[in-house]
Order: sequence, then C-alpha cells, then structure tokens
Amino acid sequence: MKIQLLPSTFDSDGRARSPEQRLSCYLVDDRVAIDAGSLGLAATDAQRETVRDIIISHTHIDHVASLPIFIDDLFATLDEPVRVHATEEIIELLERDIFNWRVYPRFADLSNDRTRVMEYVPFRVGEPFRVAHLSVTAVPVNHVVPTVGLVISNGRTTLAYGADTAETDLFWQLVNSAPRLDALIIECSFPNSMHELAQISKHLTPATVGTELKKLKHKSPDIFAVHLKPAYRDVLISELAALNRPRLQVMEPGREYEY
Ligand SMILES: [Zn+2]
Ligand SMILES: [Zn+2]
Repeated sequence: MKIQLLPSTFDSDGRARSPEQRLSCYLVDDRVAIDAGSLGLAATDAQRETVRDIIISHTHIDHVASLPIFIDDLFATLDEPVRVHATEEIIELLERDIFNWRVYPRFADLSNDRTRVMEYVPFRVGEPFRVAHLSVTAVPVNHVVPTVGLVISNGRTTLAYGADTAETDLFWQLVNSAPRLDALIIECSFPNSMHELAQISKHLTPATVGTELKKLKHKSPDIFAVHLKPAYRDVLISELAALNRPRLQVMEPGREYEY
C-alpha cells in the first residue's frame, strides 16, 4: 500500500515546497483519495487519471476545498463518474453547502457526453464497504460536525485514519478490532498551551495525542501526526517529540510511504 499526503504548497513538478500542511488529502495507491482538501490543486497529471474514488471524512473546508475543482478539471474527459463516498448525513451537507449552484454546480446532476461526472456512494458507519480495491470501515469520531474515522485494508496492509477529532473511544475500538495495523494517521492541531481552544474546536494536542495513543493495542505501527496548524508547527514538533514514542513522526507532504 502506498500512502501520500498531498502537499498544500508545491512547485511546478508537484513536489512539496514546504513541510507545512494547510489542506488534508491522503492518496492510497494513487487510486483512492481520503478527503480532498488539496486534491484538485496538488494531484499530478498521472494521479488525476487514476483517482476516481474519494472518501470524505467531514465537510470542513480544509478537507473538501478543491473537490469541486478536481471534478471541474476532469469534466470533459471522464469516462466514468468521480465517486464520492460518504455517510448520508455528510452527502446532504455537501449538496446543501457546496454543490448547490451558488458555491459551485451540482455536479451529481451533470454529465459529459459519455458519463455522469460525479456520483455519491453512501456508506453506513460500522459496516464494512468496498472502495476500489480497498475494504473500509468508518465510525463517528468526536468533532464539531459529523465526522468519521476510517480503517482501510487491501487484504495485506491496514491503515487507520482518525480524521479531525478530540478524545474518542469508538475509533480506537475499531482500530483495535482490526487483525493488524501498519500505519495510523492521527491529527495534532494545537500545542499543549492551547488545550482550551483544542477542546472547543474538538481537536487534539500533543498531550491528548499521548493519552489517546494509550488506547491503541497494536504494538508497533508507524504513527503519523498530521493537521499541525502551521503557526504552531515548531512547538508542536517539540511537544510531540517529548512524548517519546519511537515510531511517532510528523507526516511529510509529498513523500510516498510504502507498506
Ligand atoms: Zn475539521
Ligand atoms: Zn481539518
């Protein structure tokens, strides 16, 4: 399994220009996108040809910002729809707040001369579903809008994605019930000094990442901290290092991680 956090800033070759992350989009095997914050901006030409399935964890703008642009760019050339996998609740929010003709066209109603350009594929939390070559299970996490965390497997490798969340138990129950875990993506938005804002906005700090990771039963997956607010990046990196977890690292935008 190949996992890549798409960069938020990049040069003309698509390489990350800075390690800062402003938008969220994780590509699995260049085929499936988890969230689409930077997808329409940072995907390479090759990735634009192969990504046809997108799982949306929640509708915050850093996770969906360039989803409409991604579909718009492909409009004339698609031979199959771009499939957007989400809960019914999240699909309703996408239709109400983004693909509503005011913010952008309702692509789910539009076709080019070969195919519909966008199709919603609803899933239910707690029930496994297929996305391309992957098996996925979603559970609600603890954020200010409806949000799901995911466990994703290709049959050999398992990846867990916590999305945006404060302290949660359901997600760790799902992760711990997986037979194995190779990589875990966990958010860490605010430094410890901003604990109150993290609680109000339902995000994690290095301290709460530390207590959440105590719920993890799998022995030694790679753990990737993501969603570090750029303004606090340096202090976040040193507070994460102070947790002393050898396999915990900040995920590098643009880098391809292979499992
Ligand atoms: Zn969010
Ligand atoms: Zn976010």
